[in-house]
Amino acid sequence: MPDDLPIISLESYRIRRGDGYCLHRERHLDDNRRTLTCAKCGAQLDVFDELFRLVRDREQMIYMRKQLTEDIEKLRATHDRLKSDVRNARAQLKRRQYMREKDEP
Ligand SMILES: [Zn+2]
Repeated sequence: MPDDLPIISLESYRIRRGDGYCLHRERHLDDNRRTLTCAKCGAQLDVFDELFRLVRDREQMIYMRKQLTEDIEKLRATHDRLKSDVRNARAQLKRRQYMREKDEP
C-alpha cells in the first residue's frame, strides 16, 4: 500500500456513506449550507447516497404494493370460492334434511 494514500477512518466513512452507522430516518436538509445531516445524531450524510436510498425505498414500495395487490386478488378469489362452497354445503344439508323429514313417518 502506498504511503501517500489518505487515511480515512472506517467510522467517518460509515457516517458519510450512511451504511450501518447512522440508521436513523430523520433528516435535516440545510438549504443554505447545502448539507444533509441526521436530525437525531447529527451525522453528516451524503446527498447522493440519501437520494439513492429514497429511490430504492420507493422502488421497493412499488414492488411490495404490486405483491400485496396480487395477494389481495388471490385472497378475494379464495374467499369467493369458499363462500360458494359454504352456499353449496348449506343447500346440500337442506336437501338432506328435507329428504330425511319426507322419509320419516
Ligand atoms: Zn443518525
